[in-house]
Amino acid sequence: MPWFKRVEKGIHTPTEEKKETPDGLWYKCPSCKAVSSMAEHRKNLSTCVKCNHHDRIGSKEYFAILFDNNEFTELDANLTSGDPLDFVDSKPYPNRIVATQKSTGLKDAVRSAYGKMNGREITISCMDFNFIGGSMGSVVGEKIARAIDHARKTRTPFMMISKSGGARMMEAGFSLMQMAKTSAKLALLSEEGLPYISMLTDPTTGGVTASYAMLGDFNIAEPGALIGFAGPRVIKETIGKDLPKGFQSAEFVLEHGFLDFIVDRKELKDKLTNLLSMVCEKDADNAKIKTRKATKAS
Ligand SMILES: [Zn+2]
Repeated sequence: MPWFKRVEKGIHTPTEEKKETPDGLWYKCPSCKAVSSMAEHRKNLSTCVKCNHHDRIGSKEYFAILFDNNEFTELDANLTSGDPLDFVDSKPYPNRIVATQKSTGLKDAVRSAYGKMNGREITISCMDFNFIGGSMGSVVGEKIARAIDHARKTRTPFMMISKSGGARMMEAGFSLMQMAKTSAKLALLSEEGLPYISMLTDPTTGGVTASYAMLGDFNIAEPGALIGFAGPRVIKETIGKDLPKGFQSAEFVLEHGFLDFIVDRKELKDKLTNLLSMVCEKDADNAKIKTRKATKAS
């Protein structure tokens, strides 16, 4: 006779009495495989406590990191995409948009907002990779263009946080036009003497790299971010050579002179504040000198 005998057949536990481990309680780092609690991981701004791997985060998290007390005013929050080409791949483009809006709670792949960062007014546009790969379509371009206009109108610095696979193929040529539009707006910002900080996060590729992401007065990046234009396979096939180690990582790009510095997410807010205080105070001094000269002349 077995030492254990099941008296009743089947397990009768009412659903409300079932005990389950909640989802997402633990975080396993994809880089060093270290396990930490989700709470600890979030407290560390989604960077690994052991190896400092920077996990991908979205506009919600970046706004919470940068804006004082997470207080900000969103710009053009309800701008949504049209379907200029009647594009259909595995499903019609409008259906894809609606489905993605539902699953992500976002309207498109970028959000713009203004508020205070360590007491200093700033306008920030931030991309969301989980909205169709952070692809740049007409809404993304338009929202960035309008955010730049807002920065010009309020005379505040502009910051762009890029995270994108490139142009949105479902809008084809309309996506590519956004490269010219955003670049032209940035030229106006520059003419008016307002600083533009571009931060490239993992991944920043394609048409985004080829337009606004590389046009900053300061181009900065997060550690380990993939930064490039074409994918490594395409380049390898084109040049017929093996690519060097670490190719297209933020560190590689910095070493080759395309970035100003790499910044740890945990130091981002303070570093940006220091940077802007240096740039803007110099601006204020120049303005004073100009007015002094003007009064002397009159
Ligand atoms: Zn790690």
